[in-house]
Amino acid sequence: MMRTQISDVLMPDGAREQIAAIMRSRLRKAGLRGPYAEADCDLGKRMAKLTGKGEGAYLWGEPGTGKTYAAACAVRMAVLDGTSAKLVTTSRLLDDIRSEYDGGERGALRRAERYRLLALDDLGAERPTEWAIATLTRLIDTRVAEGLPTIVTSNYRIGQIRDIWGGHGGQARRIAPRRCVQAHRGQGAGQEARMIVSASQLRGVPKDRAELYGKPHVGARYVGNRYELTAERCGICGRQATNCHHIVPRRCGDFALVTPRGTWRLRSPLIALCGSGTTGCHDGFHGGARYRPEWVWDEPEFEEAWWDGTLLCEHEPHDPALYAYGHWAITDAKTGRTIEITEG
Ligand SMILES: [Zn+2]
Ligand SMILES: [Zn+2]
Repeated sequence: MMRTQISDVLMPDGAREQIAAIMRSRLRKAGLRGPYAEADCDLGKRMAKLTGKGEGAYLWGEPGTGKTYAAACAVRMAVLDGTSAKLVTTSRLLDDIRSEYDGGERGALRRAERYRLLALDDLGAERPTEWAIATLTRLIDTRVAEGLPTIVTSNYRIGQIRDIWGGHGGQARRIAPRRCVQAHRGQGAGQEARMIVSASQLRGVPKDRAELYGKPHVGARYVGNRYELTAERCGICGRQATNCHHIVPRRCGDFALVTPRGTWRLRSPLIALCGSGTTGCHDGFHGGARYRPEWVWDEPEFEEAWWDGTLLCEHEPHDPALYAYGHWAITDAKTGRTIEITEG
């Protein structure tokens, strides 16, 4: 794709108008009209950053949370950047592709496979016929194979799409990229969250914190109500470990994960550290809160499997085997660096 760079310095008015008209026409061809041709929001910019790196995004949330607007913003930024991009409603694209078979306009599928950025809007609103599901999954597969990012927006999370797609539900997994973003109403940019966990399951515990419980220890373990180090080295800096820290603050206690497959009383994971509560790396988890630990799932499906009890039916809490599904990401507020712990 040829990039066009236009400098408007010393440009006669007529030329500037002409260029504006060309840009409007490009935006229209990219599926951006009305307010979408000027879409500009933080969530959209974040998606543009992701897709710029070749990553896809699955953006879901209730109607009216600005998903289409955010997708339009990402597409608009790609167009301004001189890239081929398209925002299209999923059902509309399917109609266009189907009409080719009836001798209508040709090439809709081929074009959809080749846009540098494709935003499929409102997945789940189309009729979930076998043909529609096969066409959509083949389209995404082709784009993934070519390294081309796709943004998918939907009123449904992937687990629900799986239900809607019934017997072909297994295919839904292929639609979802690693990055699932939930759009929230009235929170402006839309907060990033991987999935909704029901309030009754969380019982007032913030999702971020609840997600920490039961995950692998780092260099330590419980022995009854006490704990001991299993590693000699600090999980952060590698110096001599002297004690261990509760990743979930002790005052928060345990967390009962109630699922259709069983109930588990989950404890805080432990991490071996140097220093004490007021010195060394251990201090970094207290007072100044320099280190912020987060458990990151590798796939949205793994996260769902944890919250519905499937993973815990196979693995004990704190099992290092859980690293097959996710990892620790410990953000260092001082350096901006993230320390990833990916194996036990
Ligand atoms: Zn240390
Ligand atoms: Zn501590």
